[in-house]
Amino acid sequence: MSVQPSAADSLSRFVFEHAPIRGAWVSLDATARDILACHRYPPALQRVLAELLAAAALLASTLKFAGTLTAQLQGDGAVRLLVVECDAQLALRATAQWSDAAAALPAGASLCELAGGAAHGRLALTLDPKDGGPIYQGIVALEAVSIATLIEHYLEKSEQIASRIVLATQGHRACGLLLQRLPGAGPSDALAWHAANRRLDAFAAGALVEATAAIPLLQALFPEHDLRVFAPQPARFGCRCSSERVANALRLIGRTEVESIVAEQGAVVTHCEFCNRRYAFDADAARALFASPDAGSAAPVRH
Ligand SMILES: [Zn+2]
Repeated sequence: MSVQPSAADSLSRFVFEHAPIRGAWVSLDATARDILACHRYPPALQRVLAELLAAAALLASTLKFAGTLTAQLQGDGAVRLLVVECDAQLALRATAQWSDAAAALPAGASLCELAGGAAHGRLALTLDPKDGGPIYQGIVALEAVSIATLIEHYLEKSEQIASRIVLATQGHRACGLLLQRLPGAGPSDALAWHAANRRLDAFAAGALVEATAAIPLLQALFPEHDLRVFAPQPARFGCRCSSERVANALRLIGRTEVESIVAEQGAVVTHCEFCNRRYAFDADAARALFASPDAGSAAPVRH
């Protein structure tokens, strides 16, 4: 162990030196706080979002391409939609749509309870390479109670990689640990994998959120193993919204509709559902959207 990761908002990958096991530890503090502060989420939704943010960062760390990972819950219960995104640079964002019933749910409510039951909800994990390559989507049935177990099932089924995930939250703070048996590991490696699993089983998830750095945590967890811990990668709240994207969406709505909104309300005003940023197009800016083929360069008025 040579690198000392210490940032509260970072992800550290590691490998066992003498066993085909790899993993990652993620800690999200200000990142999760700022994302969760964008909306007045009820407690149950706040905890689930915090766990999914940590899980999304862990999953993104396993991707072989520099794209985006999206976890999307659809349901017809108290929560209709929940979206968490993480890209290869660990820029995270999240949003949700919920009804008043969500406020009545206990803080420990499961994804299944939020979605209105296993038959009514599903969790989709989408991997988009963002380079024009094929988009992969896996659907996870909401059979398990914990998000960690749901994602373990997904990794085992879709990627055929034996995986363990531990997630823990405390207030807005979210932490997670991923352990994976490397593809190609032989039967003789099973002992090391099972021993690491037993260490994880005996480990209190609460200790994850108390850890401030990967190395002391991993040393306490796996004292009998030599681990190589890589330099931590910073995580942050990052939204991909922009004036240009809003302008393109308005062009899709069409000139007639946009003009009628401007005539009624004086401007077209919209908010990013992820970060709450406000975009406003007054009459001149709205007209410029449809003025010429290169109208894309027209700068909208932002307040
Ligand atoms: Zn945004």
